[in-house]
Amino acid sequence: MIFNTHIYGMTTRKIAIVTGGSSGIGFAIAQKFIEHEYLTYIIGRNADKLLKAQHALGENCQTAQLDLEQLDQIPPFIQALIEKHGQIDVLVNNAGINLKKPFLEVSNAEFMLVLQTNLAAAFVLSREVATAMVPRKNGSIIHISSMAAWYGIPQVVAYAAAKAGLEGMTRAMAVELSPMGLRVNCVAPGYITTAMTEKAFNGDPERKRKVLSRTPMGKMGDPTDIANAVYFLCSESAGFITGETLKVDGGNAIGY
Ligand code: NDP
Repeated sequence: MIFNTHIYGMTTRKIAIVTGGSSGIGFAIAQKFIEHEYLTYIIGRNADKLLKAQHALGENCQTAQLDLEQLDQIPPFIQALIEKHGQIDVLVNNAGINLKKPFLEVSNAEFMLVLQTNLAAAFVLSREVATAMVPRKNGSIIHISSMAAWYGIPQVVAYAAAKAGLEGMTRAMAVELSPMGLRVNCVAPGYITTAMTEKAFNGDPERKRKVLSRTPMGKMGDPTDIANAVYFLCSESAGFITGETLKVDGGNAIGY
Protein backbone atom coordinates (compact mmCIF):
# COMPACT_ATOMS: atom_id res chain seq x y z
CA MET A 1 0.00 0.00 0.00
CA ILE A 2 1.25 3.48 -0.88
CA PHE A 3 0.81 6.07 1.85
CA ASN A 4 -0.86 9.08 0.27
CA THR A 5 -1.57 12.49 1.72
CA HIS A 6 -3.73 15.23 0.19
CA ILE A 7 -2.25 18.68 0.10
CA TYR A 8 -3.66 21.64 -1.79
CA GLY A 9 -5.58 19.17 -3.95
CA MET A 10 -2.37 17.31 -4.92
CA THR A 11 -1.95 13.66 -4.06
CA THR A 12 1.59 13.27 -2.88
CA ARG A 13 3.58 10.68 -0.99
CA LYS A 14 5.29 11.44 2.26
CA ILE A 15 8.98 12.13 1.71
CA ALA A 16 11.79 11.58 4.22
CA ILE A 17 15.48 12.43 3.92
CA VAL A 18 17.98 10.50 6.04
CA THR A 19 21.59 11.64 5.80
CA GLY A 20 24.12 8.84 6.25
CA GLY A 21 21.33 6.38 5.47
CA SER A 22 23.54 3.83 3.75
CA SER A 23 24.95 2.33 6.95
CA GLY A 24 24.57 1.82 10.68
CA ILE A 25 21.99 3.93 12.48
CA GLY A 26 20.98 5.86 9.35
CA PHE A 27 20.21 2.63 7.49
CA ALA A 28 17.92 1.49 10.32
CA ILE A 29 16.19 4.89 10.35
CA ALA A 30 15.64 4.77 6.58
CA GLN A 31 14.29 1.23 6.89
CA LYS A 32 11.80 2.36 9.53
CA PHE A 33 10.41 5.18 7.37
CA ILE A 34 10.24 2.86 4.36
CA GLU A 35 8.28 0.33 6.43
CA HIS A 36 5.83 3.17 7.02
CA GLU A 37 5.56 3.83 3.28
CA TYR A 38 7.63 7.00 3.11
CA LEU A 39 9.60 7.54 -0.07
CA THR A 40 12.98 7.85 1.61
CA TYR A 41 16.10 9.55 0.26
CA ILE A 42 19.39 8.38 1.73
CA ILE A 43 22.45 10.58 1.37
CA GLY A 44 26.09 9.50 1.50
CA ARG A 45 29.45 9.94 -0.22
CA ASN A 46 30.15 6.35 -1.20
CA ALA A 47 28.19 5.26 -4.30
CA ASP A 48 28.70 1.52 -3.70
CA LYS A 49 27.38 1.73 -0.15
CA LEU A 50 24.36 3.70 -1.37
CA LEU A 51 23.58 1.13 -4.07
CA LYS A 52 23.89 -1.79 -1.66
CA ALA A 53 21.60 -0.04 0.81
CA GLN A 54 19.07 0.75 -1.91
CA HIS A 55 19.11 -2.87 -3.00
CA ALA A 56 18.40 -3.95 0.59
CA LEU A 57 15.77 -1.28 1.25
CA GLY A 58 13.77 -1.72 -1.95
CA GLU A 59 11.93 0.53 -4.33
CA ASN A 60 10.83 3.09 -1.73
CA CYS A 61 14.47 4.03 -1.24
CA GLN A 62 16.10 6.70 -3.39
CA THR A 63 19.80 7.54 -3.17
CA ALA A 64 21.72 10.79 -3.44
CA GLN A 65 25.51 10.83 -3.62
CA LEU A 66 26.48 14.05 -1.92
CA ASP A 67 29.42 15.07 0.21
CA LEU A 68 27.74 17.11 2.94
CA GLU A 69 31.04 18.85 3.65
CA GLN A 70 30.34 20.75 0.43
CA LEU A 71 27.72 23.04 1.94
CA ASP A 72 27.07 24.90 -1.34
CA GLN A 73 25.78 21.70 -2.94
CA ILE A 74 22.99 21.30 -0.40
CA PRO A 75 20.53 24.08 -1.45
CA PRO A 76 20.34 23.01 -5.15
CA PHE A 77 19.86 19.38 -4.06
CA ILE A 78 16.95 20.27 -1.77
CA GLN A 79 15.50 22.59 -4.42
CA ALA A 80 15.53 19.75 -6.95
CA LEU A 81 13.71 17.47 -4.49
CA ILE A 82 11.04 20.09 -3.86
CA GLU A 83 10.56 20.61 -7.60
CA LYS A 84 10.18 16.86 -8.06
CA HIS A 85 7.92 16.03 -5.10
CA GLY A 86 6.40 19.34 -3.97
CA GLN A 87 7.15 18.62 -0.30
CA ILE A 88 9.48 17.13 2.28
CA ASP A 89 7.90 15.75 5.45
CA VAL A 90 10.87 14.55 7.48
CA LEU A 91 14.58 15.38 7.65
CA VAL A 92 16.89 13.28 9.81
CA ASN A 93 20.37 14.78 10.19
CA ASN A 94 22.18 11.56 11.00
CA ALA A 95 25.43 11.66 8.95
CA GLY A 96 28.44 12.08 11.15
CA ILE A 97 32.15 11.50 11.46
CA ASN A 98 34.31 11.21 14.54
CA LEU A 99 37.95 12.04 15.17
CA LYS A 100 39.73 10.39 18.07
CA LYS A 101 42.84 12.42 18.86
CA PRO A 102 44.32 14.17 21.90
CA PHE A 103 43.00 17.73 22.26
CA LEU A 104 46.48 19.28 22.04
CA GLU A 105 47.13 17.62 18.66
CA VAL A 106 43.92 18.52 16.81
CA SER A 107 44.61 20.90 13.90
CA ASN A 108 42.31 23.72 12.77
CA ALA A 109 41.49 21.80 9.61
CA GLU A 110 40.60 18.61 11.51
CA PHE A 111 38.41 20.53 13.95
CA MET A 112 36.60 22.38 11.16
CA LEU A 113 36.04 19.21 9.12
CA VAL A 114 34.23 17.51 12.00
CA LEU A 115 32.14 20.63 12.63
CA GLN A 116 31.38 21.05 8.94
CA THR A 117 30.03 17.48 8.52
CA ASN A 118 28.29 17.02 11.88
CA LEU A 119 26.97 20.51 12.55
CA ALA A 120 27.16 22.97 9.65
CA ALA A 121 25.68 20.51 7.14
CA ALA A 122 22.79 19.84 9.53
CA PHE A 123 22.21 23.59 9.77
CA VAL A 124 22.17 24.14 6.00
CA LEU A 125 19.97 21.11 5.34
CA SER A 126 17.57 22.14 8.09
CA ARG A 127 17.31 25.72 6.81
CA GLU A 128 16.63 24.62 3.25
CA VAL A 129 14.15 21.90 4.21
CA ALA A 130 12.36 24.07 6.80
CA THR A 131 11.95 26.81 4.19
CA ALA A 132 10.00 24.30 2.11
CA MET A 133 8.04 22.99 5.11
CA VAL A 134 6.87 26.36 6.44
CA PRO A 135 4.23 27.12 3.75
CA ARG A 136 2.60 23.73 4.51
CA LYS A 137 2.84 24.37 8.28
CA ASN A 138 3.95 20.78 8.69
CA GLY A 139 7.17 18.86 9.05
CA SER A 140 9.56 17.26 11.47
CA ILE A 141 13.34 17.63 11.77
CA ILE A 142 15.51 15.34 13.88
CA HIS A 143 19.17 15.77 14.75
CA ILE A 144 21.30 12.85 15.95
CA SER A 145 23.50 13.81 18.87
CA SER A 146 25.64 11.64 21.17
CA MET A 147 26.58 11.08 24.79
CA ALA A 148 29.67 13.09 23.82
CA ALA A 149 27.46 16.18 24.12
CA TRP A 150 26.84 15.33 27.78
CA TYR A 151 30.03 13.75 29.12
CA GLY A 152 33.63 14.86 29.19
CA ILE A 153 34.89 12.10 26.88
CA PRO A 154 38.63 12.40 26.23
CA GLN A 155 40.07 12.73 22.71
CA VAL A 156 36.88 13.73 20.89
CA VAL A 157 36.89 17.51 21.31
CA ALA A 158 35.57 18.41 17.84
CA TYR A 159 32.90 15.70 17.90
CA ALA A 160 31.75 16.78 21.38
CA ALA A 161 31.57 20.43 20.27
CA ALA A 162 29.56 19.49 17.17
CA LYS A 163 27.10 17.29 19.07
CA ALA A 164 26.58 19.87 21.84
CA GLY A 165 26.01 22.39 19.03
CA LEU A 166 23.29 20.19 17.53
CA GLU A 167 21.45 20.03 20.85
CA GLY A 168 21.57 23.84 21.22
CA MET A 169 20.43 24.21 17.63
CA THR A 170 17.51 21.85 18.33
CA ARG A 171 16.16 24.21 21.00
CA ALA A 172 16.86 27.38 19.00
CA MET A 173 15.16 25.99 15.89
CA ALA A 174 12.21 24.64 17.89
CA VAL A 175 11.29 28.03 19.38
CA GLU A 176 11.42 29.75 16.01
CA LEU A 177 9.73 27.05 13.96
CA SER A 178 7.01 25.83 16.37
CA PRO A 179 4.71 28.80 15.62
CA MET A 180 5.08 27.84 11.95
CA GLY A 181 3.86 24.28 12.57
CA LEU A 182 7.23 22.52 12.47
CA ARG A 183 8.69 20.32 15.21
CA VAL A 184 12.42 19.92 15.85
CA ASN A 185 13.82 17.24 18.14
CA CYS A 186 17.04 15.38 18.78
CA VAL A 187 17.98 11.81 19.66
CA ALA A 188 21.15 11.17 21.65
CA PRO A 189 22.17 7.54 21.15
CA GLY A 190 24.16 5.75 23.80
CA TYR A 191 26.58 3.10 22.57
CA ILE A 192 25.15 1.39 19.50
CA THR A 193 26.77 -1.43 17.53
CA THR A 194 27.89 0.09 14.20
CA ALA A 195 31.07 0.57 12.16
CA MET A 196 31.68 3.84 14.03
CA THR A 197 31.75 2.23 17.49
CA GLU A 198 33.73 -0.75 16.18
CA LYS A 199 36.40 1.73 15.07
CA ALA A 200 36.25 3.66 18.35
CA PHE A 201 36.59 0.51 20.47
CA ASN A 202 39.10 -1.18 18.21
CA GLY A 203 42.25 -1.70 20.24
CA ASP A 204 40.69 0.04 23.24
CA PRO A 205 39.08 -2.77 25.32
CA GLU A 206 39.25 -0.58 28.43
CA ARG A 207 36.92 1.96 26.80
CA LYS A 208 34.43 -0.75 25.90
CA ARG A 209 34.60 -2.26 29.40
CA LYS A 210 33.95 1.17 30.90
CA VAL A 211 30.96 1.79 28.63
CA LEU A 212 29.32 -1.54 29.45
CA SER A 213 30.04 -1.29 33.17
CA ARG A 214 28.14 1.98 33.44
CA THR A 215 25.22 0.95 31.21
CA PRO A 216 22.51 -0.45 33.53
CA MET A 217 21.13 -2.62 30.72
CA GLY A 218 24.62 -4.09 30.34
CA LYS A 219 24.70 -4.18 26.56
CA MET A 220 25.23 -2.07 23.47
CA GLY A 221 22.15 -0.82 21.65
CA ASP A 222 21.01 -1.81 18.19
CA PRO A 223 20.51 0.71 15.35
CA THR A 224 16.80 -0.18 15.36
CA ASP A 225 16.54 1.19 18.92
CA ILE A 226 17.45 4.61 17.54
CA ALA A 227 15.23 4.22 14.47
CA ASN A 228 12.21 3.49 16.68
CA ALA A 229 12.81 6.65 18.73
CA VAL A 230 13.31 8.80 15.63
CA TYR A 231 10.13 7.48 14.04
CA PHE A 232 8.17 8.08 17.24
CA LEU A 233 9.39 11.70 17.44
CA CYS A 234 8.30 12.32 13.83
CA SER A 235 4.91 10.67 14.31
CA GLU A 236 1.64 12.20 15.45
CA SER A 237 2.11 10.37 18.77
CA ALA A 238 4.79 12.97 19.51
CA GLY A 239 2.67 15.87 18.24
CA PHE A 240 3.23 17.97 21.40
CA ILE A 241 6.97 17.31 21.68
CA THR A 242 9.46 19.82 20.32
CA GLY A 243 12.90 21.11 21.27
CA GLU A 244 13.57 17.85 23.15
CA THR A 245 16.67 15.66 23.22
CA LEU A 246 15.77 12.04 23.91
CA LYS A 247 18.55 9.81 25.20
CA VAL A 248 18.31 6.25 23.89
CA ASP A 249 21.12 4.66 25.83
CA GLY A 250 20.07 1.68 27.97
CA GLY A 251 20.40 3.97 30.98
CA ASN A 252 24.06 4.84 30.27
CA ALA A 253 23.58 8.49 31.20
CA ILE A 254 22.24 7.60 34.65
CA GLY A 255 24.59 4.66 35.22
CA TYR A 256 26.89 4.74 38.21
P1 NDP B 1 28.45 5.12 10.42
O1 NDP B 1 29.89 5.49 10.30
O2 NDP B 1 28.03 3.71 10.25
O3 NDP B 1 27.59 6.00 9.44
C1 NDP B 1 27.86 7.33 9.18
C2 NDP B 1 27.14 7.71 7.91
O4 NDP B 1 27.38 9.09 7.61
C3 NDP B 1 27.61 6.90 6.70
O5 NDP B 1 26.49 6.42 5.99
C4 NDP B 1 28.38 7.90 5.87
O6 NDP B 1 28.23 7.59 4.50
C5 NDP B 1 27.71 9.22 6.23
N1 NDP B 1 28.59 10.37 6.06
C6 NDP B 1 29.70 10.66 6.77
N2 NDP B 1 30.27 11.79 6.31
C7 NDP B 1 29.49 12.23 5.28
C8 NDP B 1 29.55 13.32 4.38
N3 NDP B 1 30.54 14.23 4.43
N4 NDP B 1 28.58 13.46 3.45
C9 NDP B 1 27.58 12.54 3.36
N5 NDP B 1 27.47 11.49 4.18
C10 NDP B 1 28.41 11.32 5.12
O7 NDP B 1 28.04 5.70 11.85
P2 NDP B 1 26.82 5.40 12.84
O8 NDP B 1 25.69 4.78 12.13
O9 NDP B 1 27.39 4.77 14.04
O10 NDP B 1 26.44 6.90 13.26
C11 NDP B 1 25.34 7.61 12.75
C12 NDP B 1 25.12 8.85 13.59
O11 NDP B 1 24.89 8.46 14.95
C13 NDP B 1 26.33 9.79 13.63
O12 NDP B 1 25.90 11.12 13.64
C14 NDP B 1 26.99 9.44 14.96
O13 NDP B 1 27.73 10.52 15.46
C15 NDP B 1 25.78 9.15 15.82
N6 NDP B 1 26.06 8.35 16.99
C16 NDP B 1 26.44 7.03 16.88
C17 NDP B 1 26.67 6.30 18.02
C18 NDP B 1 27.02 4.85 17.98
O14 NDP B 1 27.16 4.26 19.05
N7 NDP B 1 27.16 4.22 16.82
C19 NDP B 1 26.56 6.89 19.36
C20 NDP B 1 26.17 8.26 19.34
C21 NDP B 1 25.93 8.94 18.20
P3 NDP B 1 29.51 7.62 3.48
O15 NDP B 1 30.60 6.88 4.14
O16 NDP B 1 29.00 7.00 2.22
O17 NDP B 1 29.79 9.07 3.29
